[in-house]
Amino acid sequence: MLRRDSDHHQLTLLSDLAVPLEGQPSRVRRIYCNRNLRLDQIQFVGFDMDYTLAIYRQAEMDRLSIEATARKLVDKGYPESLLTMSYRAHFPIRGLLVDKKLGHVLKTDRYRYVKKAFHGTRELTSDERRQMYMQKRVRPDPRRFHSIDSLFALSEVTVYSAVVDALDRPFAQLDYAQVWGDVRTCIDEAHRDGTLKKIITADIARYIERDDQLGPTLHKLRSSGKRLFLLTNSETYYTDAVMSYLLAGGLPEYPSWKSYFDVIVTSAQKPAFFMRDAPFSEVVQNGQTHVHKVREIQRGHIYEGGSLSEFEKLTGVSGDRVLYVGDHIYGDVLRAKKESAWRTLMIIQELTDELVAMERLTVEIARVDKLAQRLSALHDGLHERQASLKLLQRVLDDDGTGAERRVELEAARLRVKRGIERIRAQVKVVEAEHGALEATVESAFHPFWGSALKAESELSSFGEQVERYACLYTDRVTNLFSYTATHYFRGPRHRMAHE
Ligand code: IMP
Ligand code: MG
Repeated sequence: MLRRDSDHHQLTLLSDLAVPLEGQPSRVRRIYCNRNLRLDQIQFVGFDMDYTLAIYRQAEMDRLSIEATARKLVDKGYPESLLTMSYRAHFPIRGLLVDKKLGHVLKTDRYRYVKKAFHGTRELTSDERRQMYMQKRVRPDPRRFHSIDSLFALSEVTVYSAVVDALDRPFAQLDYAQVWGDVRTCIDEAHRDGTLKKIITADIARYIERDDQLGPTLHKLRSSGKRLFLLTNSETYYTDAVMSYLLAGGLPEYPSWKSYFDVIVTSAQKPAFFMRDAPFSEVVQNGQTHVHKVREIQRGHIYEGGSLSEFEKLTGVSGDRVLYVGDHIYGDVLRAKKESAWRTLMIIQELTDELVAMERLTVEIARVDKLAQRLSALHDGLHERQASLKLLQRVLDDDGTGAERRVELEAARLRVKRGIERIRAQVKVVEAEHGALEATVESAFHPFWGSALKAESELSSFGEQVERYACLYTDRVTNLFSYTATHYFRGPRHRMAHE
C-alpha cells in the first residue's frame, strides 16, 4: 500500500489565500465539462508530462522535429534537397488522418465523412473527394489510415506532405505508403535515440514554457488532501530534466519536483500501460533501473513501466476516484476511459486559439447559422413548389381536363413556376453569402482546415472523440488553480432534436 507522507497534512492551505471566485473564470481560463464531475470525490490526480505539465513551444518543436526527420530521411537515401527546402509547419492540425495509400491528408467529421483533403499542398476538389472516398465513411483501418493524435505528430504531416509534393512525378506512381513508413520511422527514431531530447535538454527554455502557477496549482490540490501522481511515457532522465525545469525554485515546502508527487511512473508505455498486466521496475539512485517486483510504492522513488492493474493494487485507489490529466486523445484519454474507471481531464493547447477565433467571429458565426436556417427554409419552399408543379402538370396532361379548368390550371402552373424561379434566385444569393462567410469563419480558425474541433456546423471526428472520452477539457493544467477542491463540474444538459 502507498505510504502517505506525514508532512503532507502540514502544508499551508494555499487555497485559503486564493481570491474567492465570483462566477466563472474567463473563457480561456475555464475548464469545460462534458460529464459531471465532483472534484471532492477525487482522491488521486494523475498527470501526463509532455504537452500536459510541459507546454512545448510548438513552432520550435516543429522546426526541430522537421530538421531531425529530414536529416534521417536523407541518410536513408532521400534527396539532399530535403535539407534546404521550405516546410509549411503551420499546415497540419490535430485530429487529421493520413491516407497512406493515396498520399492524402484528410479531415473527417463525426460520421467519418471526408470534409477536406489535401494531396501535398494541393487541396482536392469536392468532386475528387467524392470520387475517391465515394461518399462513404472512412473506416479508420490502421493499415491504411494514420491518425494524428498529439501535437508531437504535427511535424510528421508537414514532412510527409512536403516530400509527397517534392517527389510526385507525372506518370510515375510514388509509393506513398513507403514514404509515410519512412517518415514515421525517422521521427520515431529521433524520439527514441535521443536526437530531439539532447537538443531540448541543452536549451530547455527555448522548447518548453515555464508556467509559474504550476507549483501553486499542484500545491493547492495537495493541500486539499488529494494525492498526486505523474505517469509519463518519457524516460527517467528526460522526465527529471523537464520536471526540474518546470518546478525548480518554487515553494519552500518542495525541495525537489519529486516532492509534489506520491507516485512517479516514467517509461509507462501508454496506451499499453492501460491494457497489460506488468510489474513496476524501480529506478535506483544512480539512474540504473533495478528490475524486481515492486511490492510497495514509496514517495520520492521513481518507477518504470508497470500497468493500470498493478497501480490500482499498490495504491489501493478505486478507479472512479482517479482524475487523469493528459493531452493524448488515444494514449491518455480514450484508453484510460475504455480500460478503467478513471475520470479524464484533457489538455487541448489549441483551445486558446479556438476560443479567441470564436469570440472574434461571434457576429459572423451567428449570421452563418441564420443563413443556414434560411437556406433550409428556401429549400423546403422549393421542394413544395416543385411537387405542386408536378401535380399541376399531371392534371394538365390528362385529356379529361376541361378547357375552362385548363386555363385556370395553366395560370396556376405559371405562378408556381415563377415562384420556383424566384426562390432559386434567392437560394443562389443566400448560398453565395453563406459560402463566403463560412469560408471566412473557417479560415479564421485555421487557414487550411478550419476549427480542429468542428467540421463546419458538425463536430469533427477529433471533436467527437473529445466530447465522448474527456470528462473535462481545458487548455492548460494551471486552469485548475481557479477552482476549489470541492468544485462540482456540471456538463451541459443534452438536448435531442425534438427538445
Ligand atoms: P508523455 O506525453 O509524457 O506520456 O510522453 C510522451 C513521450 O513520447 C515523449 O518522451 C516523446 O518524446 C515520446 N514520443 C512522442 N512521439 C513519439 C514517437 O513517435 N516515437 C517514440 N516516442 C515518441
Ligand atoms: Mg503527453
